[in-house]
Amino acid sequence: MTKTVPADVQNNVANHLNSHALPSYLDANNLGPWGQYLQQIERVTPHLGNLSRWVETLKRPKRILTVDVPIERDDGSIAHFEGYRVQHNMSRGPGKGGVRFHQDVTLSEVMALSAWMTVKNAAVNVPYGGAKGGIRVDPKTLSRGELQRLTRRYTSEISMIIGPTKDIPAPDVNTNEQVMAWMMDSYSMIEGNLSTGVVTGKPISLGGSLGRREATGRGVFVVGREAAAKRGVEIKGARVAVQGFGNVGGVAATMFNGAGAKIVAVQDHTGTVVNEGGLDVARLHEHVAETGGVGGFAGAEACLDREAFWGIESDILIPAALEQQITEENAPRIRTKIMLEGANGPTTPEADDILAANNVLVVPDVLANAGGVTVSYFEWVQDFSSFFWTEDEINARLTRIMQEAFSAVWDVAQQKNVSLRTATFILACTRVLQAREVRGLYP
Ligand code: GLU
Repeated sequence: MTKTVPADVQNNVANHLNSHALPSYLDANNLGPWGQYLQQIERVTPHLGNLSRWVETLKRPKRILTVDVPIERDDGSIAHFEGYRVQHNMSRGPGKGGVRFHQDVTLSEVMALSAWMTVKNAAVNVPYGGAKGGIRVDPKTLSRGELQRLTRRYTSEISMIIGPTKDIPAPDVNTNEQVMAWMMDSYSMIEGNLSTGVVTGKPISLGGSLGRREATGRGVFVVGREAAAKRGVEIKGARVAVQGFGNVGGVAATMFNGAGAKIVAVQDHTGTVVNEGGLDVARLHEHVAETGGVGGFAGAEACLDREAFWGIESDILIPAALEQQITEENAPRIRTKIMLEGANGPTTPEADDILAANNVLVVPDVLANAGGVTVSYFEWVQDFSSFFWTEDEINARLTRIMQEAFSAVWDVAQQKNVSLRTATFILACTRVLQAREVRGLYP
């Protein structure tokens, strides 16, 4: 990252981080995703008019909480993990965003993810600010009991800053409905009353919403259809390549396949599988359920090495794994027409420029993957009113919100001659900073 980040941004980050005496692993030579986000803010600032006097608000999280999460292991030893909850902005509503359990979680990453939630929530106009949480842990190394103790202790450590009208966590990488159920239960026990609205992405039996599990992938599909229409790509027969086959990539692949597209390549942490005639997506799901990943799938014609994935020719490419996958190194090799960012932050700003020059239409994360938090919003509303909607109602409302957001972003991009990412940031940051301005400073 170092060499690709402009000096002024590096200085900003270095000053910012040093002045707050953040932990040493977050040094300015390894800016990571937060540096990536700051560059995106630099790009939108010239388009904010008078609101740019508030733009500094977006360059620093409102609140950062770092917590030690100790648990007793099954063998009786004590293990400590570092966890975070970052509330980036709350001008438009309570904090909202997922919790990630991953061995590579850093504060820089959680800060960036929280900021992208601020932008995402404003882009689809749900009444939330942005927040994110995470624990640096490989959950595959924990037993179910250890995972439960970790989740409950983390919830207790952040319980003073979360709540149904304060900050509402949700699933993200390696967290699921069960983890949300434990978080909801822990928070409710601490508060002494049932508090279903404190997290979203819960099991249906516990105030969860129909359609939430599929919502992010469905949203990727909906904006993909819109983008394809603009770019003159037929979904029927389109060649689709997907990185990540979890809750986002797996669902998106199924939906594109259902609409007649061929899934020609899938990559995850276990391998890269390719079939020119189209992978059998249902069988691939079965294989993943049995083995934990796509690697070794019998229905693949070829298994490529990791980097070769980016050179596969496609009409639609869906990065749906982790951030900073598409860089100035591999972006020149990408041969696709439309890229739908199912993951958060998969593309560095330098790669963005290369893709634009190569005429790849990039639908950015803060728009493309907003379907998840949109149905989280529906879940939260349903919990408050204890009145639950049908799956058809949810899907219809989700589709309408995603289509309207895409169309508004498209219009801004045309008017200002900017990328869809900058257009989304223009719309979203304007909403956030208008709220910031009209609220005014306290005291
Ligand atoms: N973790 C998801 C995201 O990155 C969903 C967050 C939520 O539903 O609050 O958008």
